[in-house]
Amino acid sequence: MRKKIVAGNWKMNLDYTEGLGLFTEVINMVKDEATGNQEVVVCSTFIHLHSLAQLAKGYNKVSVGAQNAHQAESGAYTGEVSAKQIKSVGAGYVILGHSERRQYFGESNELLAKKTDTALANGLKPIFCIGETLQQREANEHFDIIKSQLVEGVFHLDADKFGQIVLAYEPVWAIGTGVTATSDQAQEIHAFIRAELAAKYGQQVADDTTILYGGSCNPKNAAELFACADIDGGLIGGASLKSRDFTDIVKAFN
Ligand code: PGA
Repeated sequence: MRKKIVAGNWKMNLDYTEGLGLFTEVINMVKDEATGNQEVVVCSTFIHLHSLAQLAKGYNKVSVGAQNAHQAESGAYTGEVSAKQIKSVGAGYVILGHSERRQYFGESNELLAKKTDTALANGLKPIFCIGETLQQREANEHFDIIKSQLVEGVFHLDADKFGQIVLAYEPVWAIGTGVTATSDQAQEIHAFIRAELAAKYGQQVADDTTILYGGSCNPKNAAELFACADIDGGLIGGASLKSRDFTDIVKAFN
């Protein structure tokens, strides 16, 4: 059975002390909530990662992740952080292809394919984000956009490697806007993604792939979204910065 995940994306928020405080609260609140095949992941800035990984030790349903990694193994890339370095502090995941990286840092599908390879080669599981802008949806291009993000970003992987990744559908128009995709809109895209995976890798791989929804997910709408057949959890931005809201979203699985 595929994994169900609620992942927090703290983005560039919280200083070191605030981050450790929030994570301690989150662990205490979720440690008895995530059961069976469920997992809680918190994706922080690089400066928090080592300490969060230490705090998460002993809780096998709680993991930490980064929000980006460089595509090169190592070298003269001032200011960058490698997948190997992220792995070495105890992180298990890395968000790749978030729309803010695509939009503000010009990350293309081609670059993200390289980042995915490097992350996987270093034992990190990518949470690979895809999703259309409002303009693309209004022009009825959303299916084509999502397909090309899959084809150019991750479909070069063999089935074995692909089995290590988590996908996140995040309509750009829903991120941080308070406008959530309806459960019907989200389920429609998730089902489309799973059908594309089945066509490429076969039904088994498609059935085993975790596909998260992200974009203004909150304690009020999480249960309805997570109840959809092809939605396996969420990637949570704003609501992951409050321990109570984040925990309530984790509880929405049940
Ligand atoms: P949001 O962000 O929950 O604040 O909309 C989601 C994300 O960017 O991953």
